[in-house]
Amino acid sequence: RNPDQWCRSFSHFIGQCLIKDFEARPSVTHLLEHPFIKQAHGKEVAVRQQLATLIQEQQEIGIIMSLTLCRHERINTRKTLIIESSPDDDLVNLEFLDEETIISHLHKRYDELQVYTYVGDILIALNPFQNLSIYSPQFSKLYHGVKRAENPPHIFATADAAYQSMVTFCKDQCIIISGESGAGKTESAHLIVQHLTFLGKANNRTLREKILQVNPLVEAFGNACTAINDNSSRFGKYLEMKFTPTGAVIGAKISEYLLEKSRVIKQAIGEKNFHIFYYIYAGLYHQDKLKTYRLPDRTPPRFDLYTATKLYKEQFDAIQECFRNIGFTEEEVNSVYQILSAILNTGNIEFAAITSQHQTDKSEVPNSEALENAACLLSIGPEELQEALTSQCVVTRGETIIRTNTVDKAADVRDAMSKALYGRLFSWIVNRINSLLQPDTNTSCMNVGILDIFGFENFKKNSFEQLCINIANEQIQFYFNQHIFALEQMEYQSEGVDASLVEYEDNRPILDMFLQKPMGLLSLLDEESRFPQATDQTLVDKFEDNLRCKYFWIPKRMELCFGIQHYAGKVMYNVNGFLEKNRDTLPADIVVVLRTSENKLLQQLFSSPLTKTALKCFGVFGGMNQFSGLNLDNFKRSTPCLVSQYSLMDLLSKMVVGQPHFVRCIKPNDDRQALRFCRERVMVQLRYTGILETVNIRRQGYSHRILFEDFVNRYYYLAFRAHQMPESSKENAVAVLKRAKLEDWVLGKTKVFLRYYHVEQLNLLLREV
Ligand code: ATP
Ligand code: MG
Repeated sequence: RNPDQWCRSFSHFIGQCLIKDFEARPSVTHLLEHPFIKQAHGKEVAVRQQLATLIQEQQEIGIIMSLTLCRHERINTRKTLIIESSPDDDLVNLEFLDEETIISHLHKRYDELQVYTYVGDILIALNPFQNLSIYSPQFSKLYHGVKRAENPPHIFATADAAYQSMVTFCKDQCIIISGESGAGKTESAHLIVQHLTFLGKANNRTLREKILQVNPLVEAFGNACTAINDNSSRFGKYLEMKFTPTGAVIGAKISEYLLEKSRVIKQAIGEKNFHIFYYIYAGLYHQDKLKTYRLPDRTPPRFDLYTATKLYKEQFDAIQECFRNIGFTEEEVNSVYQILSAILNTGNIEFAAITSQHQTDKSEVPNSEALENAACLLSIGPEELQEALTSQCVVTRGETIIRTNTVDKAADVRDAMSKALYGRLFSWIVNRINSLLQPDTNTSCMNVGILDIFGFENFKKNSFEQLCINIANEQIQFYFNQHIFALEQMEYQSEGVDASLVEYEDNRPILDMFLQKPMGLLSLLDEESRFPQATDQTLVDKFEDNLRCKYFWIPKRMELCFGIQHYAGKVMYNVNGFLEKNRDTLPADIVVVLRTSENKLLQQLFSSPLTKTALKCFGVFGGMNQFSGLNLDNFKRSTPCLVSQYSLMDLLSKMVVGQPHFVRCIKPNDDRQALRFCRERVMVQLRYTGILETVNIRRQGYSHRILFEDFVNRYYYLAFRAHQMPESSKENAVAVLKRAKLEDWVLGKTKVFLRYYHVEQLNLLLREV
C-alpha cells in the first residue's frame, strides 16, 4: 500500500539475494529477475518499476547493501565472501601460536575465500587463483581512510596505510612485496597502484590513466611465460608513485633491475620469450604489416613464435594504446617495433664454416635473407653487419689485426648483439616513461614506492639466471629480517624497553658467502670469468677450493653442479654457461657498426657515453643513471655479477630511506588451482619467510616509535590549545597519550613506543579536531 515503505523493506531482501548469490555478480536485471523478488513482487508492476528506478539511481546499491548486511550476518559457506572484520583477521590475536594453529587458521580462511590475513601490520596474501569481486571502486571507497580493524584484511588497506602515513608524517613510504614465483606479487602490485591512483584524487584523469598503463607496458617487455607462472616477472621493478604533500598524484618513476636478457636468445623447455615478441608478431600480422617490418609470415623457428592468435593481437592493441596514452611518439613506437623485428630476424641468422687450405676457423652467412632484413631494420649496411659478426678487430702492440670468428663464436656474437639490443631498448623504454611521467620539477613531492621483484625460483635445472634471482631474494629477505627482527630488538634495548629476544633464522652468512670480497661466490665467478682459458670445470673447482660454508656443497654424483641452502630451500645449480653469461661481452665491432645506424633511437642506445644532447633528441632529460652502465669503457669490466650487486644495493638503499610496509605473498598450491590449500607447501613458505617469528615479535611489538619531540609536535592539538605550543617533553607526550585515552603504550628513553593500532587511533582523533 505504501510503495516507499515497500521498497525499503524490499531492499533488505535484495541484499540477502546478493549475499546468497554473490558469485553471480548480480546486475540490475538479474536482481529483478531473481526468484525471491519475482515471487514477492507478484503483480505489483508499479512498485516493481519504482524499485528498478531506485536501484538504477544508486548503481552501487547492490554491493553497498550487501556489504552492510554482511557486517551483521557472517555467512560461512564456501562460496560466499565474508565482508566483516573479526579478531581472527590478525594472527597476532591468536591464543596459541604454533605452526599447526597458524596453518589451520589460514586454511579455514582460504576456504572461506578470505585470502588476506594480517600479522600485525604485515599482510599475508594467499593467491586465490581466481578472480575475486573485491577489487572494485566500491571496495576502494570502503577501505579509504578508515581504521584498519573496521574491515577485513585487504591489499587496499595496506596501500591505504602507506598513503595515510605519507600524508600524515610527510615521509616517503615503500611497500615491499615478496614471495616465490607465481605467489601473486605482480597482481598485488597492480592492485596497490589501482588503490593509490584512486586515493590520489581525480583532478587529473589523464595522468591517472597513464600511471595505470605503466605496469602493463613494462611487463609486456619484461614478463614471460615460465614453467611456474604464465606471466612471470623477469626483472625487478620499483615503481614510485609521486604525490603532492596534500596527497594528489602527480607522477611516477620506475627503476628496473636485472632484466633476464638471456631469455631473448634461449628459453628452457616449456617456456617462452618475452611477451612483446608474440604481441607484435600477432599485431603486425593482423595489420598486414609483417612485410613492412620484414617478418616472415610463417613461424620463425628460433623464436618459436606461435601463429598469430586473437589474444596476442588484443594484447598488441592494448600495448599500442599504452604507448600512445603515456605519450610515446609514433616515430618512437615505430623505432621500437623495428628494433624488435630486427632482433627476431637476427635470431634467424645462421653461420656456416668456410674451410679453405689455409683457414679453418672462418665463418660466413650462407643465406643472407635474415641478415639483410636485420640490417635494413637497424638502418645499417648488411656487409658491415656480417663483418662485425664473423670477424673482430684486435689491437696488439699498436697494430690492428682482423681475426675471423668460428661458427660458434659468430653465433655467440649474434646472440650478444640481440641481448644488448633488447636490454638497452628495455632500459630506454623505462627511461622514456620516467621522463613522460616526471612531475613538474618545481613541485615538491613525496613517494610511495612499490617493490615487485622476480620471485625465488627452484627448477629441475637451475642456471645463472636463477642464481641472480635467488640472490636478489636473499637480500630482500635480509632486509625484512633486519627490519622486523634485528633493528627492532636493538632499538628496544637501546631505549631500555624490555623485549624478550626472539629467535630468528639470520640469512647473513649465506649473503656473505655470495657477496664477500674477494672470496665470495660472486667475486670468484668474476675472477674466473676474466681468464680466457677458464672452463665450467675450473669454475666448480675454484668454488670447491675456496668456499668453506655449510650453505654450499658440491654433490658427489652430479657433474658440474653445486648446491646452495637458500633461506627458501635447497637449490642445485648447473654451472653450464655460467662464465659466458657472466662475461656478457658485446664486441666493440658490433657497437661500432650499430653506432653508424641512421635510426635515431638506435644511435642513442649505443652512443657512448650517453650525452644530454643524445637524450634530448627523444626528449629524455632525466634518469641518466639508468644508462651509466652503458659507457663503452665499462663494457669489458662490467659483468652481470657486479651489476647485480650494485643495483641491489641501490635498491635496498632506496627502501631504507622510506618507511616500509610488507606484503608476503603465499602460493597455496603448485597446480594454480582455486580453493586448493596444500598444507605442506604453505607450511614451507611460512617457515622460510619467518612468519611464525614475525607473529611473536609483532604481538609483543611496538611497531611505531616516535621521538618525544616529533610526537608532541604532531599531536599536541589533542591535549592543548592550538596556540599553546607546549614544550616537546616526555611529560607533554604523556599528557597527549592520556588525553587520547590510549592504553598499553610504553615510554623509552627518547621515544614513545606505540602499537600499530595506536597510530590509527591518533590519526582519526586528529581528523576530528
Ligand atoms: P613471479 O615471481 O613469477 O613474477 P608473481 O609472484 O609476480 O610471480 P603473479 O604473476 O602476480 O605472481 O601471479 C601469478 C598468477 O596468479 C596471476 O597470473 C593470476 O592468475 C593469479 N593471481 C595472483 N594474485 C591474484 C589475485 N589477487 N586475484 C586473482 N588471481 C591472482
Ligand atoms: Mg611477478
